[in-house]
Amino acid sequence: MIFSKYLLYYITMTNHHITNKKRMITLNGIAASPGIAIGKVHIYDEEKFIVPKYKIEIHQLQKEMQRFDAALEKTKKELKKIQKVFTDKIKNKKLDFFQMHVLILDDPFLKESVLLQITENYKNAEWALYDVMSKYINTLKETKNDYLSERVADLLDLAKKIMSNLLKKREKKLSDIEGKAVIIAINLAPSDTADMDKSKIIGFATDQGGRTSHTAIVSRALGIPSVVGLENISSQVHEGDEIIVDGNNGTVIINPNKTTLREYNTSKDFFLKYSEELMKVKTLVPVTLDKKKVILSGNIEIREEIDAVINNGGCGIGLFRTEFLYLDRDTLPTEKELFTIFREAVEKIKPYPVIFRTLDVGGDKVGGAIQITGEENPFLGYRAIRFCLENPDIFNTQLNAILRALNYGNGSIMIPMISSVHEIIKVKSIINNLKKILIEKNIQYNKNIKIGAMIEIPSAALTMDVIAKEVDFVSIGTNDLIQYTLAVDRNNSKISHLFEPFHPAVIRLIKEIIDKAHNNKIHAHICGELAAEPMAAILFLGMGIDQLSMSAIAIPEIKKLIRSIKYSDTKILVEKVLRLKNSIDIKNETYKFLKEKAPEFLYKDIT
Ligand code: PEP
Ligand code: MG
Repeated sequence: MIFSKYLLYYITMTNHHITNKKRMITLNGIAASPGIAIGKVHIYDEEKFIVPKYKIEIHQLQKEMQRFDAALEKTKKELKKIQKVFTDKIKNKKLDFFQMHVLILDDPFLKESVLLQITENYKNAEWALYDVMSKYINTLKETKNDYLSERVADLLDLAKKIMSNLLKKREKKLSDIEGKAVIIAINLAPSDTADMDKSKIIGFATDQGGRTSHTAIVSRALGIPSVVGLENISSQVHEGDEIIVDGNNGTVIINPNKTTLREYNTSKDFFLKYSEELMKVKTLVPVTLDKKKVILSGNIEIREEIDAVINNGGCGIGLFRTEFLYLDRDTLPTEKELFTIFREAVEKIKPYPVIFRTLDVGGDKVGGAIQITGEENPFLGYRAIRFCLENPDIFNTQLNAILRALNYGNGSIMIPMISSVHEIIKVKSIINNLKKILIEKNIQYNKNIKIGAMIEIPSAALTMDVIAKEVDFVSIGTNDLIQYTLAVDRNNSKISHLFEPFHPAVIRLIKEIIDKAHNNKIHAHICGELAAEPMAAILFLGMGIDQLSMSAIAIPEIKKLIRSIKYSDTKILVEKVLRLKNSIDIKNETYKFLKEKAPEFLYKDIT
């Protein structure tokens, strides 16, 4: 599916290339990371290569034909190898669909058509192949025959294979791009985003993704303005177009006219000044006008973000998403490697604590050293603690590294995706056993480590009275809690309008979790993305939250917000809101409150 979109994108790109219209286009998506970027487009496709198109000279014809021939032969060989491995494995000749691929490649018509494009139209081999394959694919698409139209995917697959051989897999990495650019892609993997160099990549926009997709989270962490879920931006731009990415409001403007450009340059200046203004509060205490204190901490994914938490005035790391240490590599990190990174975090943040969340792989966080495949519903599947309990080697290695690293400062271990108290009991027993082994081996570890549970599944929220007795604190993962409460995939841009943080079910559930935590004398934190939204943060404040943890970049704004209002007023607001029947009324009431008490925080659109 994604791949066919990818080829369609090629086709549209070609058309743009030929017509080269510079029409201003405004698109609306999901604001993923604040700030405004104005620059030139660089297209990054998920297959990591772009089809070069250029005319060749007569004396290059022979070489170009040979190049195509070599790529075709190489593809055939590769395919035969795959075919053999596959048929050996499944031992079912009927399922040998690679045979059809081989037959297509052997079809002299394909080869002749491509060579004709080269010799008659002087197109380079990639362009010639692209044209021929597009024609085939379009013809298949137009047939009313289901069998034939389903073969489009096969042709796309073959086109990709030959193309990558022609290009000698000239893999483009985001870190390789030259100059400054705004990245446009169908989608980006969290590891692509983590690879971004902020001095080169000034913003990005994608067709897919939601506000709480991990790609969006990483872009916020790195302070790169971004808009996601634009549905078809990748088919509307071409390389080098001028573009504005407004990560505050979720708007992208391709080829802006002069007036728009001027307006956005002014907004960009305003936002920069606003950000500078916010930085003035960074060393101040997050305390309301009537002296209620809230701890503000940072969420991190990669070690480079530790400094950002400190620089933005965070008091600790409230969520260390440790899984990112496993995603952009092929081998599992060793205990020593993990220990080094964890110790660095603990020592840098000291005297504040680090909350290490244990490996939360699965869902959209797959790949690299952890291979989880073949699940129909990955977000409801083999994720996080479910994976760790089945993989004791990986889990124990990580837990040991955390136990030892915390010896150099303060912090806790937090377990993600808890759906029942039994999981916590199991983890506690594993940790106790590991501690015993460390004692036997005479290895130092921190004896005062606290254990926390993430509350992000409704079953955990509804059994908080039981869970709270087993842990030292809870942290509400609103990203998942919303997705599981409302049954709305957090990454699916088609239904992103249903991902409604202000839904009464979500608001009531969060209030209940906080109340139950306090009834059991433990702290309640929020570490989902909602903690960084002024409209939501004032509600959490009114519910009596103890700690809010967010992308480092958001800490100053929430600190300033807390310092601008009274806790007693937010409590009254929450009482009102809990009686409201729908999200629109809840948002209106909260908006009214902010407009009256702290209007400067309403510069973003609320939807
Ligand atoms: C959450 O679900 O809110 C959370 C903080 O965890 P993650 O976004 O990593 O799933
Ligand atoms: Mg989560």
